[in-house]
Amino acid sequence: MKIENFPEEIKGYVLPKHEGKLVYRCISCGKEYGISKLLYTCPDCRNVLLLYDLNFDKLKEIPPYIWHKVFDYRKMVNIPALKGIYRFHEFIGSVIPLDDIVFLGEGNTHIIEANSNLQDKIGIKFYFKNDGQNPSASFKDRGMASAFSYINYLIKNNYVSDVLAICASTGDTSASAALYASYLRPNVKSSVLLPHKKVTAAQLAQPLGSGAYVFEIPGVFDDCMKIVEAMSEKYNVFLLNSKNAWRILGQESYSYEISQEFEYDMANKVVIVPIGNAGNITAVMAGFIKFYETGIINELPKIIGVQSNHANPVYKYYFEPEKNMRKFIPVTVKPSAAQAAMIGNPVSMPRVIHLVELYNKLAKSQKVFFVEVTEQNIMDFQLTANQNGHIACTHGGECLAGLVVAIKKGFVSKKEVAILDSTAHALKFVNFQDMYFENKFPLEYEISSKEEFINAPILINTKDIQKVSEEIAKKLSLNEV
Ligand SMILES: *Cc1c(COP(=O)(O)O)cnc(C)c1O
Ligand SMILES: [Zn+2]
Repeated sequence: MKIENFPEEIKGYVLPKHEGKLVYRCISCGKEYGISKLLYTCPDCRNVLLLYDLNFDKLKEIPPYIWHKVFDYRKMVNIPALKGIYRFHEFIGSVIPLDDIVFLGEGNTHIIEANSNLQDKIGIKFYFKNDGQNPSASFKDRGMASAFSYINYLIKNNYVSDVLAICASTGDTSASAALYASYLRPNVKSSVLLPHKKVTAAQLAQPLGSGAYVFEIPGVFDDCMKIVEAMSEKYNVFLLNSKNAWRILGQESYSYEISQEFEYDMANKVVIVPIGNAGNITAVMAGFIKFYETGIINELPKIIGVQSNHANPVYKYYFEPEKNMRKFIPVTVKPSAAQAAMIGNPVSMPRVIHLVELYNKLAKSQKVFFVEVTEQNIMDFQLTANQNGHIACTHGGECLAGLVVAIKKGFVSKKEVAILDSTAHALKFVNFQDMYFENKFPLEYEISSKEEFINAPILINTKDIQKVSEEIAKKLSLNEV
């Protein structure tokens, strides 16, 4: 639809004006820094940063009903830059001109209601938001679209040239970074560090396919992260982990899309996300807070963060009810089917602590909760979901397992509506499904296969049409007509 045909009252708003004034702000000491240079940590106190718009209060001058219309009408605009996460441009990267935005089809992922069979089983109305339907098949593309649009903006303004992008990854960050970096050739090259044998075959194939330098490192993700952190201090590289605040900014689009999908009515809604490096839950909280502060939503939804008991530092931190008694202690991770969240020392922990407090304060009651689930339940609930029409990855299964725990603990009532993050596509993690179906999980996973979920192909050993059809009919207990 052409903008000239839009309602008069929103015509002036539909094309974003990039009037924001973004700064990095230190989560700890509050110092602010300009964005013409990429910063990861506060030069003063070394803590992590978040991006803030100094002109944010101006957004509050526009009435919420106008915002609703602007976002809804932007869905109909045929400008690629506005088709993804930058539909919410004023809230995401309001300094980036439309011409510099990198759009590869990210965002706008569908929210699919669970069928009645599954809703009856769980006892609550719920949906999966399929973030595996992003271009590299995980939610990481939201943050990369933001980070690479910023890089593109720096390149076009001659602030930088010959960028070398680098990241540590549990598999999906590298797939996404390599994809977006390859789009910006020849100005950007990328390299990724993966824990050897701790990403799936699909996740290893992705950055290789995009032409990135792929380094496999002995150890787990936390070891890779230490290396890229050290390298980003010493060499001229662009760190693309969620330590980079531009990643967080882009991932906030997840909350904006949920708000829009439910007509900005967040009453009785519960958003459930898995936690690894804690960038995602940081972004989800930050996004809802921004929409709440501008009146675009009039209530903050509940948020449930889920961790496996094999990688649970955030859960453990909040297990202590007394705020002043809480102490963050990194954990040594054990093998997990929710492998992309197998992180013992999450980089965004200080952001989480900061935002959880703010979130609950704004909501005037506790709205953020943390639960822990078993590896067994992660797999059992993933398979249950997918045998009812979903394409949930193991982390989607983790969310469903987390919902069940949250109901049991009374954090969620059956009158509420839950939105579960299937953070990646099931196909990335078929190796875990295979291990389950073949009952071959190594002991450390603590997962044993249940007969009711196991599925395997049935080999037919003849080409004789008569015999084959008899054999299949027998298996399916078919009656002759
Ligand atoms: C990265 C990732 C997570 C964890 O997200 P964080 O932002 O690191 O907490 C969960 N699921 C999938 C599929 C991921 O790729
Ligand atoms: Zn500081």
